[in-house]
Amino acid sequence: MTEQTIDSAELDLIQDEAVRITCELIRIDSTNYGDGTGPCEQEAAEYVMEVLREVGLEPQYVESAPRRASVVVRVPGADRDRPGLVLHGHLDVVPADADDWSVPPFSGEIRDGMIHGRGAVDMKDMVAMLLANLRSLARTGAVPPRDIVFGFFADEEAGGAYGAEWLVKNHPEVFAGCSEAISEVGGYSITLTPAGGGPARRTYLLQTAEKGYAWMRIRARGRAGHGSVPNDENAIVRLAQAICRIDAHDWGTELIPPVITLLDHVSEVTGIGWDPDDPAAFLPQLGGARQFVAGTLANSANVTTLLAGRKSNVVPGSAEASIDCRFLPGSEDVVLDTLRALCGEHVELVVDRMNLPLDVPAEGPLIDVLAAAIDAEDPGAQVVPYCLSAGTDNKELRPLGIAGYGFAPLRLPADLDFAPLFHGVDERVPVDAVRFGARVLRRVIATC
Ligand SMILES: [Zn+2]
Repeated sequence: MTEQTIDSAELDLIQDEAVRITCELIRIDSTNYGDGTGPCEQEAAEYVMEVLREVGLEPQYVESAPRRASVVVRVPGADRDRPGLVLHGHLDVVPADADDWSVPPFSGEIRDGMIHGRGAVDMKDMVAMLLANLRSLARTGAVPPRDIVFGFFADEEAGGAYGAEWLVKNHPEVFAGCSEAISEVGGYSITLTPAGGGPARRTYLLQTAEKGYAWMRIRARGRAGHGSVPNDENAIVRLAQAICRIDAHDWGTELIPPVITLLDHVSEVTGIGWDPDDPAAFLPQLGGARQFVAGTLANSANVTTLLAGRKSNVVPGSAEASIDCRFLPGSEDVVLDTLRALCGEHVELVVDRMNLPLDVPAEGPLIDVLAAAIDAEDPGAQVVPYCLSAGTDNKELRPLGIAGYGFAPLRLPADLDFAPLFHGVDERVPVDAVRFGARVLRRVIATC
C-alpha cells in the first residue's frame, strides 16, 4: 500500500466521512462527570460499532462497567512479525454548560467553516479521522505495512480507570505485540513569522512527553467545638493556611529537553531569542500552543475543591481540599515531598490517583513517518517535539511497553488560539483541519 494506490474518490470519501462522523459523534452526549453519573460512552461506542459493522468489520465491544464501553479492532498488517501500532482516541467528553456557549454544545453544527461542539478537538475529531480511515481500509482491502490496533476508549477524561487502564489490566491481549501508539493532543500546527520579515512557516507539534499528575486531598485535623468558644485549633483555618502556603510556593522554572527543543526551534524560525531565566516571556511566540507550553515550564499544584463545615455555629473537626498537582518528568518525588512539607504538621496529604510523566524517544522510524506525512500534505512544514502539560491515555499503555505519541494532525489557522478550546467554551475545529488530518493519517497508516 502506497500513497499512489488511492483514487481521488476514495480520498474524498475519507475526508467527507471524517467531517460527518465528527459531527455525528458530537451529537451523542458522552459526558463523563468522573463519578459514574452522566451519559458516559455507551451510545458513542454503539455508534462506533455500527459505522464499523457497516463496512464488514467485526470489532470487539468491551464493557468495564454498565454504560462504560470501549471498542477495539485489529487490522492485520503485511509484515506480521513487525511490532504493531496502536491508533487510539477516547469517546468521552468533559461536561459543557449550554448557557455559556454561543452554539449548543451537542449540536455538531457547522458554522463559518468550523465544526462546533463539545469534543470537536478533544477528541471526537481524531476519533472520526481514525474511523474514516479504518472504514477505508475495510472498503478497499488495503493492508497497512504492520498490524494496527484501533482503540476507541471510555473514561480518558477521568483518568482511564474504566477505559484504557481497565483494558490494559483485563485484556492486554488486545495490544499484543504492539510497540508504539498515536493519539491526542499534539499534531496541530502553529504558525511562526520571522521577526525580520519573510514568509510565515508552519510547525507541527509532536507530543513526545506528558507531565505526570497526582490528584490528592489535603485534610486538616483540629478541635471541634461550639462556635461561641475561642478555638486556636480550627481545622478550617489550618487548611486555609496550608492552601495559602501551597499557592504561594514558587516551583521555579525547570526546562526539560522537549521544551528546550521547541523553544530553540521557534527562536530559530522567528529570529527572536528566548531567555532560559524567563522562558514565559517567550510564550507569545508560540501561537495556539502557548497555554499548553506554559504548563510545561514548571511543576504546579492547584487547589480545586474545598469541603469544610456544616453549620455556622459549629467548628468542624476536619476540613478537606483537593489539589491537582502536575509534575515534569523526573520531578515526582521532590514535588510530593515539597507538598507534604507545605501542608505542615496538622494537615495530611492523601494521594488518590497518580500517574507518572511520559517521556518517549523523539527520534526514530515512526517520527520520520509522521514528518513525511506532514511534509507531503503541507510541504516545507516541520515536525518538532513538545511536552503536553496534561495527560492522555498514552500513559495507560505504558505498562505494556508501548511508547505513546500525541499526534492528532490539524492544520490550523494562524490566529486560532487552540489550547483554550480543550475543555473550553465554544470548542470548535475547522472543517478543513479535519479533512487535512484525515489525509495525513491515511499516509501514516499506509507507511507506518
Ligand atoms: Zn482528550
